[in-house]
Amino acid sequence: MLYLFNTLSKTKELFKPIDPQHIKMYVCGPTVYDYIHIGNARPVVVFDTLYRLLKYIYPQVSYARNITDVDDKIISRAIANKEDINSLTQRTTLAFHEDIKKINALTPTFEPKATDYIEKMIVMIEQLINKGYAYVADNHVYFDVKSYPLYGKLSGMSFDEMLLGVRIEVADSKKNPSDFVLWKPSKKDENCGWNSPWGYGRVGWHIECSAMAKDLLGEHFDIHGGGKDLIFPHHENEIAQSVCCSTNTQNANSFIANYWVHNDFIVVDGQKMSKSLGNFTTLHEVLKKHHGEVVRLTLLKTHYRSPLDFSQESLHDSTETLNKFYDFLQNTKDTPISEENPDNEFLTALSDDLNTHLAISILYKLLNEAKNNLNSKTKSQFVVSANMLGLLYEDPQTWFNLKSLHLEITEQEIQQLIEERNLHKKNKNFQEADKIRDYLNTKGIIIEDSPNKTTWKVK
Ligand SMILES: [Zn+2]
Repeated sequence: MLYLFNTLSKTKELFKPIDPQHIKMYVCGPTVYDYIHIGNARPVVVFDTLYRLLKYIYPQVSYARNITDVDDKIISRAIANKEDINSLTQRTTLAFHEDIKKINALTPTFEPKATDYIEKMIVMIEQLINKGYAYVADNHVYFDVKSYPLYGKLSGMSFDEMLLGVRIEVADSKKNPSDFVLWKPSKKDENCGWNSPWGYGRVGWHIECSAMAKDLLGEHFDIHGGGKDLIFPHHENEIAQSVCCSTNTQNANSFIANYWVHNDFIVVDGQKMSKSLGNFTTLHEVLKKHHGEVVRLTLLKTHYRSPLDFSQESLHDSTETLNKFYDFLQNTKDTPISEENPDNEFLTALSDDLNTHLAISILYKLLNEAKNNLNSKTKSQFVVSANMLGLLYEDPQTWFNLKSLHLEITEQEIQQLIEERNLHKKNKNFQEADKIRDYLNTKGIIIEDSPNKTTWKVK
C-alpha cells in the first residue's frame, strides 16, 4: 500500500495505478546552462527513491525525466560565454550526468531532450489555436488562460494571486496578463530558432514538458513530479496545455497525471537557497568535498515535503552515519549478502508518502539487529534496505581508502602499534598504551576496543 501526498487534492492519498502492470511517472529535469544547484539535486534524489520503490512494488515502471535544452537562460549564457549553444548544452548535460551518477541516481527509462521534440510542440500549439485555446499576437502564440475553466486548480490560486506570481513581460499583445507564451520569435543572432507557421522562433518552456510527457507516457499517466516552485506557473500551464490539446473528452478533467507530487525547498539558516540571495551552492561543488552518498543521505534525511536545511553540520552527521554503516560492512566481510527483500517496517515507512526520515532511523535498528545476531539474513536486510535509498553501493575498503586520504602510516605499522599497545594494556602500563593511541590519532587513525579485539578506522 503506497500513499502519496497529492498537490491536486492537498491530501495524502492511497496510490491507485491506472494500470498496475505498468506505472508511468514524469519528473521535470534540469535546464542545462550550468551545474545544477543543490536545490535541484533534491528532486533528482527524491524521485529516484520513489522510482526505486515503485520498481520494487510494480512489475514495470516508465520514468521520464527531461532535459530542457532550449531556454532564454541558455541563450544568454551561450552569448556571455561566447560559446555555441549546442556545445554549452552538451557540456552541461554531461556534467549533470556525471554529478548525479555520484549520488547514485538511476538512469530514467526516458531522458528526452526538448530540441528533439520541437515538431511535436508545434503540432500541439497548432491544435491549441485550432481549438480556440490559444491565439497569435505580434509573432507570439499565447495560451488563453480564461478559456480553460480549471486553470488554477493545482496551485489553488485565484487569478489575482497568479498575477503576482507571473513575470510581467512585454504584455501589450496579450489578451490577459496571465496568458503565457507557447511560441515566441527569435532574433537571427541568437542562433536559436526553428521555422514555424508563426515565423522563425522558439517554444515556451511549459509546452516542452507537455509534448515530451504526451509522447513518452501518453495523455494520462500516474505521477507527475518536481520541485514545489514548479507548481505555479509551470505545472499549472502544463496541465492547461495538455488537457486542452487532448482529443479524448475523458481527459478533460484528468489533469494529465493522477498524482502531482512536489518536494519542498532547500534552506540555509531558514532562508530559501537561491541564486538571487547569493546563498547557493552547486551539487558539483559539494561533491568536490563530500562523497556522493553523503550528499544523498543529507538530501534524504528530511522528509521531502519539509524544507531541508543543507548545512555543514548535516553533511558531517551523514558522513558519521555512513562511516558506521561501512564500518559494519568492513568488519563483516566474511558474511555474504543474500537476496533478501527490504525489511517490512522499512518498506512501510517508505510507502507512507516516502517517509525517508523514518526509513533511515529503521536502518539503524536493522544495523543493530544485524550486529547482535550476525548472519546472512540480518546483514542482507540491512544492506538491501539501505540500497533502496540508494546507499551502501561503495566497497567498504574503498570507502575507507587509505591511499586517497594520504595517510602517513601503513596498515602494517598500525597493526604493529595496536599489538604493542595491547601488550602495554595487559601489563597495566596504561600511560604507554595511551601514548600509542594518541600517536595513531595524530595520524588520523581511531582505535576502538571491544572485549576481545581492537579494531581501527580512519578518522
Ligand atoms: Zn516541466
